[in-house]
Amino acid sequence: MARASFAPCPHCSAPLSFLEGVSGSTLTPKCPRCREVVNVAHATFLMADNSRPSPKTPRDVPPIG
Ligand SMILES: [Zn+2]
Repeated sequence: MARASFAPCPHCSAPLSFLEGVSGSTLTPKCPRCREVVNVAHATFLMADNSRPSPKTPRDVPPIG
């Protein structure tokens, strides 16, 4: 059965989804942001966690007009 957990990347602290037991899982998954290998105990597929907004949201909305 597939399992999902959420944790920051140990290298760049990007929010990641750790999906175990899904197709594409590997024992040496790479962070989609910094491309560093993340150590895992089980075959895991790493995905950037875009489901939750970043705690520090920069005001990068361009001014209207
Ligand atoms: Zn990373």
